[in-house]
Amino acid sequence: MDKLICTKCNKNFPLNEKIWKCRCGGLLNIGFNSTFPVDKIRKRKPTMWRYREAIPVSDDKNIISFDEGFTPLIEVDFYGKSVLIKQDHLFPTGSFKDRGASVLISKVRELEIKKVVEDSSGNAGSAIAGYCAKAQIDCEIFVPHDTSPGKLAQIRLYKAKLNKIQGSREDTAYAVLKAAEKCYYASHSWNPFFFHGTKTFAFEVCEQIGWKSPDVVILPVGNGTLLLGAYIGFNELLGAGIIDKLPRIIAVQSENCAPLFRAFKGNLEEIPEIDKKDTLAEGIAIAKPVRGTHIIEAVKRSNGDFITVDDCEIKTSLIDMCKKGFYIEPTAASTTAGINKYLQKINPNETVVSLITGNGLKTTEKMLQIPNG
Ligand SMILES: *Cc1c(COP(=O)(O)O)cnc(C)c1O
Ligand SMILES: [Zn+2]
Repeated sequence: MDKLICTKCNKNFPLNEKIWKCRCGGLLNIGFNSTFPVDKIRKRKPTMWRYREAIPVSDDKNIISFDEGFTPLIEVDFYGKSVLIKQDHLFPTGSFKDRGASVLISKVRELEIKKVVEDSSGNAGSAIAGYCAKAQIDCEIFVPHDTSPGKLAQIRLYKAKLNKIQGSREDTAYAVLKAAEKCYYASHSWNPFFFHGTKTFAFEVCEQIGWKSPDVVILPVGNGTLLLGAYIGFNELLGAGIIDKLPRIIAVQSENCAPLFRAFKGNLEEIPEIDKKDTLAEGIAIAKPVRGTHIIEAVKRSNGDFITVDDCEIKTSLIDMCKKGFYIEPTAASTTAGINKYLQKINPNETVVSLITGNGLKTTEKMLQIPNG
């Protein structure tokens, strides 16, 4: 049952094969039988690793963890309506990407891999670099040259090799693919183990509201690392009979870079080429998400929807959240702006869950430009 499965040609590989894509070039998924011994889980430490039987790492001695996760889920008022918000900006490196990094780098240790490469607009790079530092695994992180200085400092001080690419986020992805021909690619978009870390978001949400599914989850989407992870997680809980339905997934993109929104609304087979513009939401500005068609399928199957937010709405929401005491980075404010937009359609009896994805302390230079409302 435990295996890697190609999403293109259906070929299977052992779970411990040191590959991150199929020989045909296809994306890999993981076949793994997750179980949820609820009585045991309840007695464990409040970390994302309490769902131990659902995480595809074999030996406990390989786990790389700071006891992260099980972040607080708190009620926040949005214009008179209550939304449950997970505080995922409280992770050790400052964003939810630690969920994926903890599982992926544990697996990298299990596979006895000594060096990895990764590319990122900042947060995935700092998460991989931080967990590699804990694991004492070498890593090289490729970033666009205009990445936030706070994220660059973090990657550098974790002692990763930092490779600044003169060009766009897409040029950065191209450069790392060259490097990944010779080195294991600890990618948050290609590597399937990353998604088996981000899926713990769904487990925690369901446990925190009493082992049931919310009605709606509002999630950001660039590469879809959280969205696809959450979709896997909710499906595993559904398959195990812990919850009785999938929540509807509302996916939020930045209006200045919204290829998935366009594909979804236009019912397109392929993700369209878009003319990407600068946006405050640097972390979700992904013009060519590698798992794009999977993301659209997940949203459709959940009976969900896509929405976009513009920079003005992002800025307003950022100011609003900070006023309430939540110091969040601009990319994280795209999700809270998405909540504001969704609230116009909300049914007052719905349980709506969302999150804060990243910490404002990472982007001081951008925060200094925001007027204080
Ligand atoms: C990575 C990230 C997101 C979500 O982006 P995906 O590419 O869809 O995973 C949202 N907010 C922040 C702060 C992030 O770092
Ligand atoms: Zn294949």
